[in-house]
Amino acid sequence: MEAPTIGGMRVRKGNGETVRLARGASLTDFAEKVGVDPASLVQMLFHLGEMVTATESVNDATLELLGEELNYNVQVVSPEDEDRELLESFDLEFGSDEGDEADLAVRPPVVTVMGHVDHGKTKLLDALRDANVVAKEAGGITQHIGAYQVATEVDGDERRITFIDTPGHEAFTAMRARGAQATDIAVLVVAANDGVMPQTVEALNHAKAAGVPIVVAVNKVDLPEADPAKVRGQLTEYGLVPEEYGGDTMFVDVSAKAGINLEGLLEAIVLTADASLDLRANPDQDAQGIVVEAHLDRGRGPVATVLVQRGTLRVGDSLVAGPAYGRVRAMLDEHGDNIDEADPSRPAMVLGLTAVPGAGQNFLVVEDDRIARQIAEKREARERAALQAQRRVRRTLEDFMKSMEEGERQELNLILKGDVSGSVEALEDSLAKIDVGDEVSLRVIDRGVGAITETNVMLAAASDAIIIGFNVRPQGKATEVADREGVEIRYYSVIYQAIEEIEAALKGMLKPEYEEVTLGQAEIREIFRSSRIGNIAGCMVTSGVIRRNAKVRLLRDGNVVADNLDLASLRRERDDVTEVREGFECGLVLRNYQDIKHGDVVEAFEMREIPRA
Ligand code: GDP
Repeated sequence: MEAPTIGGMRVRKGNGETVRLARGASLTDFAEKVGVDPASLVQMLFHLGEMVTATESVNDATLELLGEELNYNVQVVSPEDEDRELLESFDLEFGSDEGDEADLAVRPPVVTVMGHVDHGKTKLLDALRDANVVAKEAGGITQHIGAYQVATEVDGDERRITFIDTPGHEAFTAMRARGAQATDIAVLVVAANDGVMPQTVEALNHAKAAGVPIVVAVNKVDLPEADPAKVRGQLTEYGLVPEEYGGDTMFVDVSAKAGINLEGLLEAIVLTADASLDLRANPDQDAQGIVVEAHLDRGRGPVATVLVQRGTLRVGDSLVAGPAYGRVRAMLDEHGDNIDEADPSRPAMVLGLTAVPGAGQNFLVVEDDRIARQIAEKREARERAALQAQRRVRRTLEDFMKSMEEGERQELNLILKGDVSGSVEALEDSLAKIDVGDEVSLRVIDRGVGAITETNVMLAAASDAIIIGFNVRPQGKATEVADREGVEIRYYSVIYQAIEEIEAALKGMLKPEYEEVTLGQAEIREIFRSSRIGNIAGCMVTSGVIRRNAKVRLLRDGNVVADNLDLASLRRERDDVTEVREGFECGLVLRNYQDIKHGDVVEAFEMREIPRA
């Protein structure tokens, strides 16, 4: 069969075969799967009215449209589906309990505290943590590990409740976005002196969307201007009707600051759980759950607080958490005490992972380290591909300044690497002394001696950090990974210079920077050979404008074959011109470059100073 021509291009069609593509795939991914030239797909889409580049990630509809045009049955696979299939290939499944009803045991509810800023979420979490019976029994001071469990007595029984200790619904949303439904009950904190505010409504909507029952904590009742009745009235309008008005939502008046009625709140949580949820899990299986919080600890390496959802997690277990894996070397509870095992709804800080997993990612115990590593590696490769597809924008000092100008409160994360520990410390000390006001803060998330490694770069990518190399260089694939992940590495050999530049960035006084701006493209349609002036390209300007004094590059099948060239001449008809716009033909000659072919694209660009406000 004759290959069909689409917009003048010949593209081989399929026979209705199924092509599976990851969500967010690019035209290049598609082209690879079906064995065609990515540039032809770009052109094809162009003719269908969409302008995308070959490596840009495109939406499901576009992938399907392309499939239809080319006669392939495109199936877009979500990351969740992909992960499910990955686990299946190891005969594993995440998310459901093994066995039957008889294997299930009651587990404590997991609670997230949400609400408007300043209404007392942090204070309430602190108050509950400090007042909790379990801590007193243990006699220790509780530590912040991202989650904790408290005990309370309800109807003569000791009942436990697990609180996710990462205030704000950001954590809640992040976990939900990753498909990890960790929360059983949401406590909505509303300050009695302030009433329902925008984020109260937002939090409420999140909880409703997740189908999570809500307990309302009317906080700050110690204040004279507190009006708890008003809060009840306001929330009724949003469908949260207090029990005392005949509804089914429990409202509890508390004061996190004065420690009023915290027991009442705990009881309301237990009663709400009993009334509307059936919280049970199988404690006798390989543990599964989610990561609540994780970071890189200076002395202990990657540290992750996980919440066990089913099964029992034990020291010595091999586990995979997102793209990290390892054997549980030790586990700590919220009092900093070592524990040997953690049963359902128990948060535990896990030591022994190879990398830092993301909040909301799932973890599961597997048979041995080898399997854990294989799953982790596959996930990592996939995450990397997805990141690449997003063509993540570079987080640079310049970006940082820009978002500062937009008035956001900013934190600049840095990773410091130096040749000797003295220089790293000196650098860190001097950085700590930079004072540029409240809107910006500087945080050193990691430091170390020696070359900049791939691990440094991965951490920087995960936490939007910039790497400062002091008398050190990248090692192995670090540069490559930094380019791919969009991580900025800045090198210095004089401390004050490093300090000066970072301070300047923080204060918004960096020297002018230039960025490349594409002006336009022209396609070479004909080539005239002239012994006097060389090869003349007869072009059609397909987009933008070609300027006589702009820099140009030559593209062939989407690849740059020559860069940073000048034009020796630009003509329309017989006249020398300064520019030619889209839709017009022109003749041009590249200075000192003769190797042009029919179909090549000449791209004109300019370096422009990035304006600073
Ligand atoms: P968040 O932004 O929701 O985490 O709010 P915070 O827990 O940081 O509390 C904001 C402010 O309200 C802090 O100054 C607290 O001390 C204060 N606060 C919190 N709970 C109470 C309370 O029960 N009574 C009074 N009077 N102040 C409170």
